[in-house]
Amino acid sequence: MKKRRSTTKSPAPVPERQSLATRAIHGKKLYAYRGPVSPPIVQTTTYRFADSGDAVRYAEGDPDVYVYTRYHNPTVAEAQEKLALISGAEKTLLFSSGMAAITSAILSVVRQGDDIISTPALYGGTYRFFRDILPRHGITVRYVRPESLASIVSMATRRTKLVYCETPTNPTLEIVDMAELLRHVRAAEKKVRHRIITVADNTFATVVNQNPLNFGMDVVIESATKYLGGHTDVMAGVVAGSAPFISGVHTQLKYYGGCADPFAAYLLLRSLKTFDLRVRSQNRNAMALAEFLEGHPRVKRVLYPGLMSHPGYAVARRQMTGAGGDGYGGMVTIEVPGGVRGAVTVCDALRVAVNAMSLGGVETLVSIPVYSSHIGMSPRELARHGVSPGMIRISVGIEGIQDLRADFEQALAALG
Ligand code: PLP
Repeated sequence: MKKRRSTTKSPAPVPERQSLATRAIHGKKLYAYRGPVSPPIVQTTTYRFADSGDAVRYAEGDPDVYVYTRYHNPTVAEAQEKLALISGAEKTLLFSSGMAAITSAILSVVRQGDDIISTPALYGGTYRFFRDILPRHGITVRYVRPESLASIVSMATRRTKLVYCETPTNPTLEIVDMAELLRHVRAAEKKVRHRIITVADNTFATVVNQNPLNFGMDVVIESATKYLGGHTDVMAGVVAGSAPFISGVHTQLKYYGGCADPFAAYLLLRSLKTFDLRVRSQNRNAMALAEFLEGHPRVKRVLYPGLMSHPGYAVARRQMTGAGGDGYGGMVTIEVPGGVRGAVTVCDALRVAVNAMSLGGVETLVSIPVYSSHIGMSPRELARHGVSPGMIRISVGIEGIQDLRADFEQALAALG
């Protein structure tokens, strides 16, 4: 019988400079291969061994033996491989949420008696983890303002093991100059004579707009619940870094148990196909909406790193892909008159924009930071985070910009 000709060509090496959009769609499958175009969901908790030899190989540390989905899963592995490819990281690890990613990555570095230096404007969950949970384990967090990064050198002690930042920050969209932060961390390392791990939460910018690894940060974390997922239907988090670092974080994942579900990994793989397209559209809409709101008489203040009025504009222009004019992200924060009552009036009057807490989805969402990400913080803490009661955080979606402008126009009119 005539043998069927294989349609599988030998894999061509992936070109170095493949665009992010291409990598996010095809992953490493940039050659003819036989198999599904859409990834299978391997919805299983455990894996059948061919025989006990597999169990022995696993016990001896063979990483290719699948045993249990909390440890490894093929759908999760495919998402991790694609995320590594788009971020340029050696390895990534997928988690059940951004917070699982953040807590596991941090706990893989710090031990009792260590301390962390962080910039202060952080996602509320991260801040509360630093404030309420880490001290119970004997770990201290001290804060350095983004405009005083040089103080990292005087603050660092032999206990300092990690420097953490988030940029742009939630919800005030402050910009932390990562190149400068790294310069001072390197100087601090000379003083304390050990390596300090640098971590950036890149959730707001995403790798489309800014890649902290390119600046020399060791670790990048993203809440994949946001732009990576992009459709407000998947909870996930990702840690990207070197293979040895990720191996240490994997140990934490195994014991703290924040593994990603295979179906969440599948949803994320689907979302990645339009990731670049969505984020670029959100960049454009956010810039247009920010400009419109900046000129609006009922808006006291607009915070958007793409506006020249923003204190971090010059750094954002260098650090984000913003030189082309559309790389400043999809998040805009405004302050309206009348404090929290003014913010409530506007949010309740919006019709297209949805009053909901998350961000990064294709639909425009609005939330009031003092009632959401920064709930329960004292006036002093709010001041430290630069959050005021009249703030509205807008996660700009991909709707028609004319509809968004009209929606905000009519909602702001409700302020009277
Ligand atoms: N980091 C930032 C900047 C966030 O905004 C959030 C959530 O809003 C998180 C981390 C936490 O992510 P998750 O909600 O997926 O746990």
